[in-house]
Amino acid sequence: MSQTTRRRPGSDPGDPGSTDHPAAGGAMQPGFEAFPPADRWDDWTELDAKAWPERVERRYTIVPTTCFNCESACGLLAYVDKETGEIRKFEGNPAHPGSRGRNCAKGPATRNQVDDPERILHPMRRTGPRGAGGWERCTWDDALDDLATRIRAALVRDEPNKVMYHVGRPGEDGFTERVLAAWGVDGHNSHTNICSAGGRVGYALWMGYDRPSPDYANARVILLISAHLESGHYFNPHAQRIIEGKRRGARLIVIDPRLSNTASQADHWLPAWPGSEPALLLAIARELIVGDRFDREFVRRWVNWEEYLGAERPDLPLTFESFVDELKRLYDGYTLEYAEAETGIPAEQIRVVADEVARAGGALAAHNWRASSAGVIGGWLTARCLFFLNVLTGSVGTPGGTSPNAWDKWVPRPPYMPPHPKQWNELTWPREYPLAFFEMSFLLPHFLLEGRGALDVYFSRVYNPVWTNPDGMSWVEALTREDLIGRHAALTPVWSETAWYADYVLPVGLGGERHDLHSYETHAGSWIGFRQPVTRVAAERDGRPAADTRETNPGEVWEENEFWIELSWRIDPDGSLGIRRWFEAPDRPGEKMTVDDYYGWIFEHSVPGLPAAAAREGVTPLGYMRKYGAFEVERDVYARHDDPVDTGRPGVVVDDATGLVFGPKPDAAPLNVVPVPLMAPGPGGTVRVGVDVDGGARRGFPTPSGRLEFYSTTLRDWGWPELALPTYVVSQVARERMTGPNDFALIPTFRLPVLVHTRTGNAKWLNEIAHANPVWIHPVDAARIGVRNGDLVRVETDSGYLVNRVWVTEGIRPGVVACSHHMGRWRLDPEAGTDRWSSGHVDLRQTEPGRWTMRRLTGARPFASSDPDSSRIWWRDVGVHQNLIFPPHPDPISGAHAWHQKVAVRPAGPDDREGDISVDTGASRRVYREWLALTRPGPGPGGLRRPEWLLRPLRPTADAYRIPGETAVAAVTGSGELPSPDTRRI
Ligand code: SF4
Repeated sequence: MSQTTRRRPGSDPGDPGSTDHPAAGGAMQPGFEAFPPADRWDDWTELDAKAWPERVERRYTIVPTTCFNCESACGLLAYVDKETGEIRKFEGNPAHPGSRGRNCAKGPATRNQVDDPERILHPMRRTGPRGAGGWERCTWDDALDDLATRIRAALVRDEPNKVMYHVGRPGEDGFTERVLAAWGVDGHNSHTNICSAGGRVGYALWMGYDRPSPDYANARVILLISAHLESGHYFNPHAQRIIEGKRRGARLIVIDPRLSNTASQADHWLPAWPGSEPALLLAIARELIVGDRFDREFVRRWVNWEEYLGAERPDLPLTFESFVDELKRLYDGYTLEYAEAETGIPAEQIRVVADEVARAGGALAAHNWRASSAGVIGGWLTARCLFFLNVLTGSVGTPGGTSPNAWDKWVPRPPYMPPHPKQWNELTWPREYPLAFFEMSFLLPHFLLEGRGALDVYFSRVYNPVWTNPDGMSWVEALTREDLIGRHAALTPVWSETAWYADYVLPVGLGGERHDLHSYETHAGSWIGFRQPVTRVAAERDGRPAADTRETNPGEVWEENEFWIELSWRIDPDGSLGIRRWFEAPDRPGEKMTVDDYYGWIFEHSVPGLPAAAAREGVTPLGYMRKYGAFEVERDVYARHDDPVDTGRPGVVVDDATGLVFGPKPDAAPLNVVPVPLMAPGPGGTVRVGVDVDGGARRGFPTPSGRLEFYSTTLRDWGWPELALPTYVVSQVARERMTGPNDFALIPTFRLPVLVHTRTGNAKWLNEIAHANPVWIHPVDAARIGVRNGDLVRVETDSGYLVNRVWVTEGIRPGVVACSHHMGRWRLDPEAGTDRWSSGHVDLRQTEPGRWTMRRLTGARPFASSDPDSSRIWWRDVGVHQNLIFPPHPDPISGAHAWHQKVAVRPAGPDDREGDISVDTGASRRVYREWLALTRPGPGPGGLRRPEWLLRPLRPTADAYRIPGETAVAAVTGSGELPSPDTRRI
């Protein structure tokens, strides 16, 4: 733990007996008095609200768990009826340091998901052709044996990469990656490239950590590029802290072409043209630089300016003053007037906002998630330019500033870690994208269809790429090819558009039906949260311990962890493959590991402060986590980069040439705090532990220089020297490209506060609230193209079109249209395929090879089920799906899918019907190849597939990073010039 971690005086965050711990029985935080005190959670009585006006008492055992609906992992309390054993409701967990007893609407709606009459209760196996809709019930044993046999065969043939696990939002830290490592497969695939890849690259290039952790509650200025208050990455935990900050006087600046709920709360709303944000941010940066209103001392100490001058301006004196002059020269072209021309925001408004930013001092809390970083080519520069403002204002690691995410996260070490996989998977990490964050997941169907490989076993895990990814019909074309995908097992709580194309549909648990461990950067501190199967815990409290979560979950619904342990044993029943040993109990060699073994060991050995807190309560660490569901590890964490490193310790050496400090690898570090460069050890097998700053060794940042990298030698050396500094590129939806009378930039990415992608399709309360996604269009534009509110329009992309209604509103800037992406769920069967609360029955046809049409036959309709509410469905709208008509736009550096589209919007034709979709996958493929041609493939220096210092899930061995027979490419030296304003194109 950092010696410089600051704590509030007298507080011990791990101690429920301290006066401000929300879980303390009689000492709730202010505002939590209405919650049942934790010491009575085992037996709580309250009146049944539904029985009113009768006073009917219900007795509950209250079990903490974690919401599974978005990445925030807020705490929940499940009220399990002591009489019936049923879950009656979910409320917030006041003992959770991230969510602090609060939830958004999606948390309590977990109850809908548990009770959903449409959910899958038993394993199902395909009958007939894949995708034709024939299903039969099978046993877990059937599925396990078949999958284990296939995986074992692939491993024995030494073809481990024929096994792939494709995860949506994981909602857990590390369990499944450990499983894949134990199997020795580089088969992890994720959804990151359709979500956060752009944002991650922008941050990673600066500081080595790929996400920000803004300290909103203590900020003087909050700058958001997105609708972060209503639908942000850590939605509810961040929203409550943004509001706290505002209440304390923080100014809120929101950059968003759409008047979101977030923008409506702002002091300054800047509806910049989508993709032009870097120009706006650099104009603000220029104001700070030319006005000498930046934190010179912070920049001098922590930015790699010497490296820049040495490499690019050896003609200049190696002094900070000459760097400041160079900064002024470099950014001189980013005037307010230039930014106005690019963004459409008046220069004077930008100047006022720049003044606000200048006044932030070291307390600028800024976040960019999704928005243009997920929308346009070069979107990662939005994050890079945004963090430039943090650097200039010295708001890095400060109270009210923005920290690296890993400081505010605690990922404990599991009992024993399998070795790194020995091979590299080019289906997920192709040579064209050496800098991608992370796997090129949305290109998988194209890679398969163009013959780059095939899979024996493909797991889709709570993931719905047919619907969620761009270009879903290419996914259908690949998933129906049994020669390309031998077995597809969908691990999912519900039917989905993708599960329909599986061979097995395996029902896994929802929020209150599974074990998971997680930790997220919700504020300037760290915590762990424990998701648990609540009816199992309730049964255990009642003296009825369960050996397997299926015993207490609905039907045969299983938690994934027990599934993976069991599958691993069946792959290697006698241990001869060396796999089984990773799934044996730490203290009972030869015996199968249980979830209690796994988490019990972690809580005992890898979470500082937890054993002591548990001992004070007279319980085991596992018992403590079962009781409270969360534990606060650290509080008020700031300025870790400035932590001193003890150079007097044995084995610590300073490299005089670079100033980097090397030392023995710390063995107690959590998994999220990695020594860097992980794969390139220092002298004598040491690892990097710091950097020399002004003659003192400091912890620094995990970048090649140990400092914040204004100048990225990685971009320079890997073929992108012109982008090595924070800069701006013109995007595929730039204003200048809108040349036709019906051309618009489409923003298709925004979330609604009550829904999240496909995960909430099974929550009736939420779908009753939100079930339409009209196309937002400005009144001026509507008049220009001749449509009125509610009229149908065709929205045309490069690979298809859809028909939807318009919503005419001044809440969107002229020239831009927007549509929320949650809607348009479909099913191919009148009664099955996707939850009927949220989907329409459609007719999907392939009219010729590559040509697909979809027509909605019915919208939402009442249906008979065990839930009387299903017969009361009053809404008919289910929205219109967009992602099918989006061809892939892989950014050549980050690999992110650039979601924004240049579209033509015209009044619908006489034969068009709402919900119509037409797709040409041949056109999709052409666009994919055009974007692929923009890449500058590896290998990079040293014959590497990827820079070793960049983060990568399931990192293979050092040998696997090198391409046999390849040697270093020549390093490219940049010009020291930013690209001229007229040629900023990739
Ligand atoms: S923000 Fe809402 S959906 Fe996300 S974890 Fe929290 S309660 Fe669940």
